[in-house]
Amino acid sequence: MQFHLNGFRTGDPRVREAAARPDSPDSNARGDAMPDKVDVLVVGCGPAGLALAAQLSAFPDIETRIVEQKQGALTHGQADGIACRTMEMFQAFGFAERIAEEACWISETTFWKPDADNPSNIVRNDRIQDVEDGLSEFPHVILNQARVHDHFLEFMHKSPRRLEPDYSRRLLDLKIDEDGAADHPVTVRLERTDAAHEGEIETLNARYVVGCDGARSAVRAAIGRSLEGEAAHQAWGVMDILARTDFPDVRMKTVIRSASQGSIIIIPREGGYLFRVYVELDKLAEDERVANKNITVDYLIAATQRILHPYELDVKEVAWWSVYEIGHRITDKFDDVREREMANRLPRVFIAGDACHTHSPKMGQGMNVSMQDTFNLGWKLAHVLQGRAAPQLLHTYSAERKAIAQDLLDFDSNWARMLSAPTKSAENPDGVDPGDIKEHFVQIGRYTAGVATVYPPALLTGDSTHQDLAKGFAIGTRFHSAPVIRLGDARPMHLGHTVEADGRWRLFAFAGRDDPASTKSPLSLLCAFLESSPDSPVVRYTPKGADIDAVIDVRAIFQQGFRDLEFAAMPPFLKPLKGRYGLRDHEKMFCADLKSGNDIFDMRGIDREKGCLIVLRPDQYIAHVLPLDAHEALADFFARFMLERA
Ligand code: FAD
Repeated sequence: MQFHLNGFRTGDPRVREAAARPDSPDSNARGDAMPDKVDVLVVGCGPAGLALAAQLSAFPDIETRIVEQKQGALTHGQADGIACRTMEMFQAFGFAERIAEEACWISETTFWKPDADNPSNIVRNDRIQDVEDGLSEFPHVILNQARVHDHFLEFMHKSPRRLEPDYSRRLLDLKIDEDGAADHPVTVRLERTDAAHEGEIETLNARYVVGCDGARSAVRAAIGRSLEGEAAHQAWGVMDILARTDFPDVRMKTVIRSASQGSIIIIPREGGYLFRVYVELDKLAEDERVANKNITVDYLIAATQRILHPYELDVKEVAWWSVYEIGHRITDKFDDVREREMANRLPRVFIAGDACHTHSPKMGQGMNVSMQDTFNLGWKLAHVLQGRAAPQLLHTYSAERKAIAQDLLDFDSNWARMLSAPTKSAENPDGVDPGDIKEHFVQIGRYTAGVATVYPPALLTGDSTHQDLAKGFAIGTRFHSAPVIRLGDARPMHLGHTVEADGRWRLFAFAGRDDPASTKSPLSLLCAFLESSPDSPVVRYTPKGADIDAVIDVRAIFQQGFRDLEFAAMPPFLKPLKGRYGLRDHEKMFCADLKSGNDIFDMRGIDREKGCLIVLRPDQYIAHVLPLDAHEALADFFARFMLERA
């Protein structure tokens, strides 16, 4: 990470310089009244809401507030699966390593089935590597959802806005001023739920409201949308336990199907001792609610003991347990604009996470997809609020994320159906063969790792004309990082880790075979264009007086080893002078890691003759692949949605 650019500061560099708050410096203190007007009101402190608030808290000029009906932060329970892709996103927030250290890593998944010789016993049927080699530089990990919240809360606390949630506030309703004249057209009513202010109503106006308020979303109801699909006829019991057991795979992710006692999934948890058991309960009848079935934790323990037979389970402590029903449901659009109005109306209210889609916990996607929703939305809101992009950009949120959620539901329905079906046997010839479960698990591996998302060609995604220049960086997918050596200080690192959750675009220019120091090389010509042409997106969209990389951060990657290139000879644009002292940035250039043999050019199929330019969105997705000399195409791409700034 880079710091001290604008002067030496002592202490933790993650604590950003606080933004000047001329309005009301203390107004963010917990328990204070809400301001009359905000730019963005986020409703709900779940993973979706916190990922959004954290992202927006990095922008000192955007007034963001996040409200939550509960009295304080989550401490126990709910989701725990963190996909590789989510870890990549955490890296952009700067806490992936700390999560990796604390979490339980899932390297292997095992499958158990009834013993053919003695069907009341279970035996291990198969085992597989949980994540395929090279899929991501990060592992699939498991950590209490509450700890994920803690990291976002800390990020917000240290951000320029020092953002804290406003707890004990329930959104009652909202109204959108339809004539479009008002600056802050969404009027919101909040009810305070703490003892000191119980029942008090606060009214405020927002430019944008984002409902991250879960499956029973009040924001969704206020914009007239509902969840459609299979209702919640499947109930699940879940418990986080400390227990003594002789079951050997208790530290692996394990799917167990018994002959007649049902199925469980074991998820090992952080700390080495705790583990989670999901117990699939009987299907609910039409109109039946799981709450009325009086299921107790003792019932869940007894069911687990029966399924684990002949292994023993002696539960010493139940840290958290819950019984919940979940449907496969989705809403038709993730904002307040009806399909037929899209040409004439701009979205003002959005919904994200469980407010738009719900699915079973079996694929461990709830928390992951919810955060990816708002990681997609956050930078778009910031672009529009800061005048960097036209508000039409906001239509892309629903378009992109609805398609992803629909895919997830389809995968999840198949997987859930498979796990719930009876085991194939003489009595159940149409049941599921345990071998098929493993096959399916392998097939959906990329999906569950969160790396299967592809945004199709549209406003923010270019076409595939030049995809051959970088076969391993598929347009529309997330940037698949690879190792490099930084030229300025010979530090080995991951190229993708240069991307922070700061709303900036990245251009990764992979140089061809030529000498990059030559003023005639395509890379040097690209740098000259970006630095000084009036058509350059860097020139057009960077505000006067801002650092050259404030909006678009350009980095170059060379095929040569770091000892074969001379830093001083490189194009000046890649050694920019920045900040109030005009200090030189030494961290814009990288070389292939030839020593380790992990050459990014080979790993990602970069054309060594021609090189290529990767255009990367602020949420780490590849927007375009272009030749280094496609200056006009690059300018045209950004001109589709960016606005020149004063
Ligand atoms: P949520 O995490 O639901 O967060 C919504 C937040 O909004 C909540 O804090 C809520 O209090 C707040 N809120 C709601 N209405 C209002 C309002 N009107 N005003 C202000 N605030 C409001 N997933 C798994 O994978 N495994 C599990 O075992 C599992 N267990 C779960 C158990 C429970 C009890 C719940 C509720 C969910 C569970 N999930 C589980 C699902 C997983 O937690 C969600 O998919 C994930 O949290 C979705 O994140 P979200 O931010 O969209 O919504």
